[in-house]
Amino acid sequence: MSEFRYCKLEKEWRIFAPERLKRPNDLHNKKEIHPGELIHDKCPFDMGKEEFTPNEITRISQDGEWQCRVVPNLYNALSINVQPKSQRDGFFEKFTGFGAHEVVIETPFHDKQIWDYDYNDLLNYFTIIQQRVISLKKDNRFAYLSIFKNQGENAGASMSHSHSQIIALPFLPKNMKEENAYKKAYYEEHKRALLDDLVYEELEHGKNIISQNSEFVLYCPYASEFAFEAKIVSKKKLSSLSEFSRSDLSSLSDIVNEFFTAYYKALGEVPFNMIIKNAPYEEYTESTKNYFRFNIEIKPRIYKQAGFELDSEIPINVMLPEEATKIYKETK
Ligand SMILES: [Zn+2]
Repeated sequence: MSEFRYCKLEKEWRIFAPERLKRPNDLHNKKEIHPGELIHDKCPFDMGKEEFTPNEITRISQDGEWQCRVVPNLYNALSINVQPKSQRDGFFEKFTGFGAHEVVIETPFHDKQIWDYDYNDLLNYFTIIQQRVISLKKDNRFAYLSIFKNQGENAGASMSHSHSQIIALPFLPKNMKEENAYKKAYYEEHKRALLDDLVYEELEHGKNIISQNSEFVLYCPYASEFAFEAKIVSKKKLSSLSEFSRSDLSSLSDIVNEFFTAYYKALGEVPFNMIIKNAPYEEYTESTKNYFRFNIEIKPRIYKQAGFELDSEIPINVMLPEEATKIYKETK
């Protein structure tokens, strides 16, 4: 059973989830596989292996076959089946491991990765995530939804079959709380969303823009944390996937498709983390659209961060975003 523990020094919650140690790791064990042995014989995410995953939450099908599905994470960090409850523990404070932890199985095909997806695969992907954002929002015990993809072992993935994860939290993480407050304050002062202004400045600056369509802009941020980091931001007043129309999802799929085609040509199978950032459920109102802008962050894991970053929280990035932008654009 997992639990949250509160760190009084850093003023933040941490999750303890010993069950996660038991999760299978077909990426790490790959080297020990004997020649000719098919690792995906054992993959529970493949078509035909549906019985090996917990009860399906939802799926998208075409021509009678599923294209993507969402299931509870078997090795969950948090559980929806426990009561959310704060507890004293002597001097300390803890909270039951309440939350939701789901896996988005993005494709029935074991070897198909995000850079192999076509527009339709991505449209299915964002459509099913939108369904989960809308559905989990109905449970008012959730404050925040973390939606992310770990691609490759250096990015924290343990399964090679292409998937993303959704973790619903009963409170806002410290960084989101601070970020949200900052965005609100910025709006109060300027009557514009912070990210709208940053996108305007990047467009004026020009050197970091990889591409844009009528609804989204794709760029390498001026002060990127990671080498080849990219960001996709909505140009429309959208704060969450829950507000997206079909045509918004379609435009998003187009630009994400364009990005990963460029990514693969420029870098190959480089591990990355992708974070899909929606406005938190907590304090969400009609006016959230004013100050929070939907965005996606892609953080390649080419170089490892180390002690200095852990101590100072100042990343050392070896690649200027304007150079990364040029390399992405050359692939077109
Ligand atoms: Zn598989």
